[in-house]
Amino acid sequence: MTSQFGLSGPMARLIEELSRLPGIGPKSAQRLAYHLLRSPQEQSEALAQALLDMKAKSILCSVCQNITERDPCALCQDTTRDRSILCVVEEPLDLVALERARSYRGLYHVLHGVISPMDGVGPDQLKVRELLARLQDLPTGQAGGGVQEIIMATNPTLEGEATAMYLQRLIAPLGIRVTRLARGLPAGADLEYADEVTLARALENRQEVSS
Ligand SMILES: [Zn+2]
Repeated sequence: MTSQFGLSGPMARLIEELSRLPGIGPKSAQRLAYHLLRSPQEQSEALAQALLDMKAKSILCSVCQNITERDPCALCQDTTRDRSILCVVEEPLDLVALERARSYRGLYHVLHGVISPMDGVGPDQLKVRELLARLQDLPTGQAGGGVQEIIMATNPTLEGEATAMYLQRLIAPLGIRVTRLARGLPAGADLEYADEVTLARALENRQEVSS
């Protein structure tokens, strides 16, 4: 192991691994590593175990595609949720943000990204097929499997808007109402970072998407 930041061995390795994480520069990585070095042994063990468990036990819910440890996930199994509304989000963290806003009681569908030709991401790389299958699944004998409205809650970015439009065109023929979160979320912003009040208002004032 070559020395890094004047260090070698295990500390250098830890700092290198930490600085690979998004939002963590070399300075923060060093601070975290020294913090762990000074902390009790149990803290490092708990962190290491949590990382291993996260990789070993996290799966995607076969219904909504959210990260879960049991399938279907707790949200999909919750019988108090309104099954006639689906909220389509880009990432699991967007779902977390909407849940934090506490004003939505329907179900979700996580795409795991947005359509972005520049990055080589097309519909096939996203959970679009799973969404359509879910809508065409007819457990109740009704069109759309009982889903009456789909809220497009992709981010207000170019890719987010394009993805919402793409899905709207696919869903419209199924006769399901498609709405979009109201403006008010800053353009180009990420849902994940929006505050609860803004998110609740964007949900409440959602608008019809016309074909
Ligand atoms: Zn689920």
